[in-house]
Amino acid sequence: MTDDTGLQTYDDRRDFRRTPEPEGDGDRDPSERPIFVIQEHDASSHHYDVRIEVDGVLASWAVPKGPSTDPADKRLALPTEDHPLDYADFEGVIPEDEYGGGTVIVWDAGTYRNLRAADGVDMESSLAEGKVEVWLEGKKLRGGYVLVEMGGRDGWLLIKMDDEEADARRNPVSTEPGSVLSGRTIEEVAGEEPPSPEPGGDGEEGTR
Ligand code: MN
Repeated sequence: MTDDTGLQTYDDRRDFRRTPEPEGDGDRDPSERPIFVIQEHDASSHHYDVRIEVDGVLASWAVPKGPSTDPADKRLALPTEDHPLDYADFEGVIPEDEYGGGTVIVWDAGTYRNLRAADGVDMESSLAEGKVEVWLEGKKLRGGYVLVEMGGRDGWLLIKMDDEEADARRNPVSTEPGSVLSGRTIEEVAGEEPPSPEPGGDGEEGTR
């Protein structure tokens, strides 16, 4: 995730003639306030990608069950390659035979604060140490979250901190399914045809 190759792994895994995903050419400036995004991704296995802006890229984890607002839940979070900042706005359909083939929506987005900054620990050090503590200001998720690396090769855990934004009954993954960018559900995005190279086409909605 945080090797020194930057976005090389991201680029190497994708054929940008085939996928609608943004190229990792890094032409987007770092945000004034660092951002986070959580993308629902209906790939070969359905999961949520949690991405946090650190040092000009989006540090990323795949969370099979998605985030919880209940501090009692420990959600497995598997590190994946850094993504470009432009990826924060991406929703669409990745072709079936491409890397990560499947539908993506922006399930939540917002800004964050590094809670360890008070102890003099920056985000780069937090990632290197395997312990990230952030306060999220999203549309769905708010409050403190911990991402902590387990020993060995077992991955990380994503856990809601027990603060005033914790809520054991909310379960937003189930009850708040739409995109915060477009309002569309992942099923709606999946059902849309990819853009046609011939504008005009057959006009009205056809049968399918
Ligand atoms: Mn994914």
